[in-house]
This record gives sequence, C-alpha cells and structure tokens, in this order.
Amino acid sequence: MDLFEHQARDLFAAHGVPVPSGSVAKTPEEAREAAVRVGRPVVVKAQVKTGGRGKAGGVKLANTPDEAEEAADAILGMDIKGHTVHKVLVTEASKIAEEYYVSFLLDRSNRTFLAMASVEGGMDIEQVAATKPDALARIEVDAIAGVDLAKAHEIVTAARFPEAVADQAADAIVALWAVFTGEDATLVEVNPLALTESGEVIALDGKITLDGNAAFRHPAHAELVDAGDGAPLERRAQEKGLNYVKLDGDVGVIGNGAGLVMSTLDVVAQASETYGGPGPANFLDIGGGASAVVMADGLEIILGDPGVRSVFVNVFGGITACDAVATGIVQALGLLGDRAHKPLVVRLDGNSVELGRKILADAGHPLVTLAETMDTAASEAARLAAGK
Ligand code: GDP
Ligand code: MN
Repeated sequence: MDLFEHQARDLFAAHGVPVPSGSVAKTPEEAREAAVRVGRPVVVKAQVKTGGRGKAGGVKLANTPDEAEEAADAILGMDIKGHTVHKVLVTEASKIAEEYYVSFLLDRSNRTFLAMASVEGGMDIEQVAATKPDALARIEVDAIAGVDLAKAHEIVTAARFPEAVADQAADAIVALWAVFTGEDATLVEVNPLALTESGEVIALDGKITLDGNAAFRHPAHAELVDAGDGAPLERRAQEKGLNYVKLDGDVGVIGNGAGLVMSTLDVVAQASETYGGPGPANFLDIGGGASAVVMADGLEIILGDPGVRSVFVNVFGGITACDAVATGIVQALGLLGDRAHKPLVVRLDGNSVELGRKILADAGHPLVTLAETMDTAASEAARLAAGK
C-alpha cells in the first residue's frame, strides 16, 4: 500500500525524521487556517499518490494565509497524472540551500535491502540514475545488521554528502531506517532531503510503501487505507475475499484458481487481437468454492466495471464440481436480476462437466452462451465485446 505524503510525514515524525510542521486541508478555507497556525510562509502541496507534483503545478509557495487559500483553490480538484486532488498538505516553507535524495527499499532481485542516496536530489531520481549513474550511490543493507550510525555514515560518504551535513544526514538516515523496519515498509524515500539556508537537514517530501503482508502486525495501518482511493471495485472484491485486478480491456474474466485465470488472460488477449479489441478488462479469481453467492459476488464486481462488454467465465470443476458451479451461475444471475446485463460466455470442464452443461442449457438464460473449449469461449467473448 502506497501512502500519501502527509501520512508518510506523520510516520517520519513518529520515528524522529525531521519534517516541517503543518496540517492537511480539504478546502481553501482550511488551508488558510492551516497557514495561520503555521504563522509563517507555507508550501501548499497536492496530496496524490504520484510523483512529479511540483512540475505539474501541484506544489505552491504561499507567503500569507490569503495566498495559501488561493493556492489551495488552484490545486484542489486538479488532475495530476490521472489522480484528482482531494486534499492538500500545508507545511511551513523552508528556504532550500541544497536538495539530496535518500531511500531504502527491498531489492528483490538481489535478495537484500538497499540504500540509495544522492546529492542530486529534488528532481526525478530515475533521470539521475539514467544520466549520471555515478551520482546515485547504492549500498546494500544487511537485514540483520540494519543501519546504525556507522552504516549511515557509510551511506552519507558513498553519496558524497558535504562534510558539514554528514552528522545530521546520518541521524536522519538512521531514523529513516527505523521507519522502514518499524513500519514494515518495502520502500521509504525522501526527495528532497533538504539542507536549509539556516543549516538544517529536513525531509521535505516523503514516500512510503507498506508491506501488506505485514498488515496484521500494524493495526494502526488500517487507518491509512484511503476510503476515497480510486478503485472501489477492488475494495469491494477485497471485502468479499475475492482476488480482483483491473486491466484496460473490455472482456471480463472470471475463473477459479490463479493458474487457470492467468492462462485465460492469455487466450483472451489473443482472441481480442483478432477482433481488434483491447483484451481483458480485469480478472477475478473466485478461488476454490464457486458457490452461488461467490459467483454472484464475482459477477456483480465484474459487471460493475464500466469497461466490461462481455464476460468469460472459465471454471474447472474440482472439489466444487461443475454442476455446483452451473447452479451457482444460474442462481447468481437470478440474484443479480437486471444488474446482469452483459453477455456471458461459460466454459466448464472437470468433475461433473456433463451435468453442469445440462443445468446451464436447461436454464436457457438469454445472456449465457456455453462454449466447449477455452479457445472457442475466448473467441466468442472477444467477438461479443467487439460487437461483431
Ligand atoms: P514532487 O514534485 O511530487 O516530488 O513534490 P515535492 O514535495 O518533492 O516538491 C517538489 C519541489 O518543490 C521540491 O523539489 C522543492 O524544490 C520544492 N519545495 C517543496 N517544499 C519546499 C519548501 O518548503 N520550500 C521551497 N523553497 N521549495 C519547496
Ligand atoms: Mn519529491
């Protein structure tokens, strides 16, 4: 789970990483009040889960509460790379002398943790990595040894931070490691870690990705989940214990078991190409039990995706045999009523396949087409989605 900057900032503060004071505002008036509380010039910053906000006009300096209100008015509602701004962070403005970069991440390919640091902060770090690879220091971090003050100094030295800021930067880096391990993050990033004109090192931007697998260890993290986050279907699926992933195409895919669903995506992608279609719209793994309720939940989620124009239900009967699945589909369509309004192509195979097909054929639902094989089913679903 990625966090908003203001959430990252709160976790930074909790672990002793220096951050500017400030608060979140959802309206221009609240931004004005936040600026009054700071009592000094502020920065008004769009809170969206994407980088490059500065370049997009989502970060504005404001010298007075009036200006803060104006800046918030301009930023709220703004679209930044497809993310609508619903709130801004109003923080005390710093006078920046230099901008550095520091991050910790899980380096999966090398099976280790990695620290990255650079004196070329502030801008796009991918660009620094591409154009000046020497300017980005990469230091492996042993998971057991972690980052103590000595290790932090090794990072600071490798990145060639100026001598004068070394101690402060090292302290900030140790605190950042405490965030990384203490919160079970897979990424913490500070860009810029700024040196102010008055000589303080302070984190002016923060990014944190939390490890969802460790959520059970952090009850407090539940509060960080963004209820307004753009993917209500994914949230609904999660609530129902279903594994749903949104894709860009127009054929909805429901299957049981990750392997079957993955190969279904492949055949749908191929069949879509034949009809000039964009491919799978999503995929939903209903797992082992394909009961009527699970099927209804799954279909409701898939049909709730406005991108979907046809649905391919691909089920291999195992512990839950095909007759139960077929009954599930028929009952699900009954439960959904008018909410089921897009064509369904069903391919069943495995245990009790004959009986399963018979149940569907007998039900004769006008939206349902039965297919013999995965390929013919994919082709039929792609054809229906293309309206051909
Ligand atoms: P990003 O563009 O999404 O990475 O957003 P940042 O929070 O990193 O802000 C972008 C840029 O705005 C920074 O690199 C700084 O140059 C500038 N900025 C952010 N906070 C301050 C501040 O307190 N004072 C000044 N002068 N500039 C700031
Ligand atoms: Mn930044």
